[in-house]
Amino acid sequence: MNREIIFNKSVPGRKSSFLNECGVSFEDIKQFIPARFLRERLEFPSLGELDVVRHYINLSKLNFSVDANFYPLGSCTMKYNPKLNEDLAGIKEFGSIHPYQDQDLVQGALKLVYDLGKVLCAVTGMSRFSFQAAAGAQAELAGLLIIRAYHNLNKNSRSKVIIPDSAHGTNPATASMCGYDVVVVKSTPEGLVDVDELSKVVDDDTAAIMLTNPNTLGLFEERILDISDILHKKKAFLYYDGANFNPLMGVVDPFSMGFDVIHLNLHKTFSTPHGSGGPGVGALGVIDKLKEFLPVPVVDKKNDVYFFNYELRNTIGRVKAFYGNFLVLVKAYAYILRLGRQGLKRVAENSVLNARYIKEKLKNHYKAVSLKACMHEVVFSCEHQRDNGVSVLEIAKRLIDFGIHPPTIYFPLIVKEALMVEPTETESKETLDHFISAMKEINSEIQFSPQKFKYAPFTTPVRRVDETAAARSPDLRWKKTGG
Ligand SMILES: *Cc1c(COP(=O)(O)O)cnc(C)c1O
Repeated sequence: MNREIIFNKSVPGRKSSFLNECGVSFEDIKQFIPARFLRERLEFPSLGELDVVRHYINLSKLNFSVDANFYPLGSCTMKYNPKLNEDLAGIKEFGSIHPYQDQDLVQGALKLVYDLGKVLCAVTGMSRFSFQAAAGAQAELAGLLIIRAYHNLNKNSRSKVIIPDSAHGTNPATASMCGYDVVVVKSTPEGLVDVDELSKVVDDDTAAIMLTNPNTLGLFEERILDISDILHKKKAFLYYDGANFNPLMGVVDPFSMGFDVIHLNLHKTFSTPHGSGGPGVGALGVIDKLKEFLPVPVVDKKNDVYFFNYELRNTIGRVKAFYGNFLVLVKAYAYILRLGRQGLKRVAENSVLNARYIKEKLKNHYKAVSLKACMHEVVFSCEHQRDNGVSVLEIAKRLIDFGIHPPTIYFPLIVKEALMVEPTETESKETLDHFISAMKEINSEIQFSPQKFKYAPFTTPVRRVDETAAARSPDLRWKKTGG
């Protein structure tokens, strides 16, 4: 039974509408609305509560989530975030602070920001942090602007930034947005920075190198101290892309590896779900001699009173309105305090152990990209499977039928048919074993029925979508289906 709601006609008893209040009639604006969006009447179904509950529960079950299924995309995209941290960020006193509120009234919140900075300095070896950037890429930009400002101030401007070919795409994008020429160094066959190549390209015109360690192949740059020497001898900086800090927390700090500027994605490693693009914090840390260049304001303390400090001598200025995404800081702080130093280290150890377990169990079925022990993630090349007619994209689609989210594929770019698995620290051995057996089963299916892969997944309400068409001409209309 449908109740009809009359729209676009005068409704008896209705006194005013938003449009009336604005002094506009519907007739005035009707001409600007495409005909297909105009309705004479809207039909709302009239249903019992139970039917409504079932409708929404069943809809929610179509949702694929880290709370229900394994996500081999790892901390980079969506590791499991403890619910407690959400509860703490939801505390009314945190959530209802206004950014213009008087500093005297938000001393607790400022203390949290200040203390989080101190804790992250302890974890990374840096001297000071800024939490203004809303994403890793934005922190990279701020970090390179700082490096550029430092060189310029010393009348020593430079034109090159060095980036390994395995780098995340934001690194070269950031460097070129800052006006630098990007010089790419190739990786060795083992997947590490080629240090001999590096020493040939580093010169007096080099501003910095941007590095991820472990790199995007999940490998630890063993010669990081040599790399640091080469750069520092030319008075160039080492920028650490610590978007993903899972494997090293509490084990080794970036300062000891020779890094001068780093960013940590609090929304990746430190407990903020960030699917669909936000909110995030790119925490930017610097060594002592770059402290005065950070974006303002930073939170400082004087006579036990916390305040926003705008007086940094060489600040690059603001990179975002207000003080960044404060509630993300609450979650990060809660996460760190709950784990403590030992707990952070255990996160790192388990994230590495889990990835190594998967690598050992699958390396005879899929080609591991490196013979070296991996850190928090393992990259396979599905070239062999491709030769048998099944692409890595199709393998990823088939995994959905096993209740597993597709992993990252075709990245890093230097690996053919790359399939990257980052299990993270929170997954149990049972879950890892389920993934391993799914991957083995898929590999034998490839040998016996490769045709099948053209149509996978089989178990989802929407099967194969034309991803290119979906991206180029999205059709966002709601369509009524069925009877
Ligand atoms: C995610 C990521 C970035 C970018 O971070 P955003 O918050 O998405 O801007 C940079 N580098 C690496 C290695 C990453 O994993």
